[in-house]
Amino acid sequence: MRNRDQYFMGIAYAASQLSTCPRASVGAVMVDDRDMICGVGYNGSPRGCVHCADVGCSADSGNRCKMSVHAELNALLNSTSRGKVLYSTHKPCLECVKAMINFGVTRVVYDVDYPDDKRDLFLGLQRNFGKDVIAIEEVVR
Ligand SMILES: [Zn+2]
Ligand SMILES: [Zn+2]
Repeated sequence: MRNRDQYFMGIAYAASQLSTCPRASVGAVMVDDRDMICGVGYNGSPRGCVHCADVGCSADSGNRCKMSVHAELNALLNSTSRGKVLYSTHKPCLECVKAMINFGVTRVVYDVDYPDDKRDLFLGLQRNFGKDVIAIEEVVR
């Protein structure tokens, strides 16, 4: 019997199959406080733009693709209402974490680690000041 977290993670993986960036296929699903899906996203170029899959990635010095809008941010942008929990195939970066906090997301469940020193510093700083604004957990298998 799969639990709820695993169920939503499966949907996040289904969304990741639409990714147009060859570097990583990331999918995200946001649910509200009634466990209803209210946003789905995958990583890819902004609407109407050329995609990495067609022209190649444009990477920064850290070798991260700068073409794609991240799946987690797309889940917020594509949402029909505010969500509480976001499921992402990959651990969200700092920019996505900040956007999620402002969107009202209080819990993130991820599967694959995605190193981001800036995110870890940011979250550590919040913890040091007793600000437990968002919980980021690895999915239980
Ligand atoms: Zn790319
Ligand atoms: Zn991100």
